[in-house]
Amino acid sequence: MEGRVGPDADVAALAQLVRGAAPVVALTGAGISVPSGIPDFRSPGSGMWENVNPMEVAHIDAWRADPARFWSFYAERFQTLGDKRPNGAHQALAELERRGLLSAVITQNIDMLHRKAGTQTLVEVHGSIASSSCLSCGARFSLDDVVELLRGADGGLPACDCGQPLKPDVVLFGEYLPPEPLGRAMRYASDAGLLLCVGSSLEVFPVAQLPGVTLANGGAVAIVTQGPTAWDDRAAVKLSGDVEDELQALAAAL
Ligand code: ZN
Repeated sequence: MEGRVGPDADVAALAQLVRGAAPVVALTGAGISVPSGIPDFRSPGSGMWENVNPMEVAHIDAWRADPARFWSFYAERFQTLGDKRPNGAHQALAELERRGLLSAVITQNIDMLHRKAGTQTLVEVHGSIASSSCLSCGARFSLDDVVELLRGADGGLPACDCGQPLKPDVVLFGEYLPPEPLGRAMRYASDAGLLLCVGSSLEVFPVAQLPGVTLANGGAVAIVTQGPTAWDDRAAVKLSGDVEDELQALAAAL
């Protein structure tokens, strides 16, 4: 296809970058899970966030002030997310890892879809719904256990054996990011020969900083995201099509 321009040429250019760079690290955001039926709450009028302000209901102060009320909202989110399946974009990244072309996935998403797709080396910088913890005694409960507790008595408030309410192991608004995954994300970004940013507007800390970390250490940045990002000018390749189509085309081109 010598001399062709357009979407196919962009995918070919990205494939060339992936082949030539090591290690390749993916950085994913809400956009990769939209084809799985998980709306990006930053898009107005999307699904379950329509009638609430997530920055109020999913705030650590809301959990502290009234854990039962917090869980009455959050239980629905657990239920909704727990049933979702990974899509072709998650699967393409898992395939690239199996083929030795991708070293790690860093994600902002809490939906467990990279795990379900089979990604092994995964950094979930905002935690995930896979578990909930007791902040009092440190006991940890799996998603299945929490769903079971939610079905039980006590007004739907999942509580630890010690009596304290559980908190999902996700970073709520108003909370600091846990240092361990953040440190791992920084190391992967700084070591990356190519940071492949997928489905993220790259606006939220820490992912907003990670492309700069890669570039400062001599790596390249590629972006597969609909809509503009602050890093478009510095990206070696920018693909703006449907995230599933683009990543499946990439996997096929490699
Ligand atoms: Zn406890």
